[in-house]
Amino acid sequence: MPVLVFLAVLLLVTASWWLIVYMLMLGGLIWLGLGGWRLALVAALVWAGVLGVVELAPHGAFARLIGWTPRGLAAALVGIVLLFGAEALLRLVRRHTRTLPDRAPGLVPLDGAAAEPIADPVPSTAPVSPPDDDELTRYARHIVLRELGGPGQAALRRARVLVVGAGGLGAPVCLYLAAAGVGRITLADDDRVGLSNLQRQVIFRGTDAGRPKAQAARDAMLALNPHVRVTALERRITDADAGLIAEHDLVIDGTDTFAARQAINAACVAAGVPLIAGAIAQWEGQLTVWDPRRGAPCMACIFPEAPAPGLAPACAEAGVVGPLPGVIGSMMALEAIKIIAGAGDALRGRMLIFDGLYGENRVMKIARRDDCAVCGSGHSRLG
Ligand SMILES: [Zn+2]
Repeated sequence: MPVLVFLAVLLLVTASWWLIVYMLMLGGLIWLGLGGWRLALVAALVWAGVLGVVELAPHGAFARLIGWTPRGLAAALVGIVLLFGAEALLRLVRRHTRTLPDRAPGLVPLDGAAAEPIADPVPSTAPVSPPDDDELTRYARHIVLRELGGPGQAALRRARVLVVGAGGLGAPVCLYLAAAGVGRITLADDDRVGLSNLQRQVIFRGTDAGRPKAQAARDAMLALNPHVRVTALERRITDADAGLIAEHDLVIDGTDTFAARQAINAACVAAGVPLIAGAIAQWEGQLTVWDPRRGAPCMACIFPEAPAPGLAPACAEAGVVGPLPGVIGSMMALEAIKIIAGAGDALRGRMLIFDGLYGENRVMKIARRDDCAVCGSGHSRLG
């Protein structure tokens, strides 16, 4: 601390016992945890008080005890105030040069996509207070990652994510997002926990059977990490929910019917919000990031029409191996973290297909269609 160096130099020059007392007092205050402007204020007030008393009675007993002239005390006071001020200024400059991005870098439009900047539709109300010790310890393994670090973790903390569906895919998504410290999570599901869900929906306990999934999942997330805010919506998300979606940075779709996916896709395209979508059946799963506003296709570009009845049966009819939603759901959470923090390369314009039975992965390139009924006109207007 420059002030202490200044005082130490003064002490060497003047050999004043008053300076020793003053420095001991400052050391004690610092030891007690006082710092910043409070320490500066106390330090300046004490010195100014001494100066005032000496000024009032320059030849009095107190002035003789201190052994300083009013002029010397005033000069030293100026030095103390200037040094504290310089330190505060330096801290301010440092803080500004380390300013974190207001929006997660991954949410910035890709080059060649939207020409106009995407406005934040609703100001983020995510917690803005600095992380406490518990959070720094909790996220230590993230913070040491070069691609995430403090700025990435801060972006996660500011992020607002809507998870649609608290089923097999939603379970790992919700757990990992809460564990990762995603600041605001909205979870929508109108179903209740059933016994047959527990084989794969690992966010629920047996005692949750019969409870609304959104509520039970919310409780599990808050038990895991009390630093996140979770809003449980006991309803479905429809194509009329673009307003709700626009209040989020990212949507994660873990629903299991074409109609539900179609509606969520349409609402996300209308709101200009990226959509991480996963799907599972039997032993195989797939995932991608639908994001026409940033050059990637939307779901309707690739799947313009519902599959013929029986071609894409739901898990209830076709079956699903328990850990498969864990694999795909965890990858969806991973994509979410990457997109929010701007790390690596998200699965925009690429679809990952995982075959659990044979342990194989494939990645397909997928392209946006200009004549897409959902995103076509919107994209050409933006581009
Ligand atoms: Zn499209």
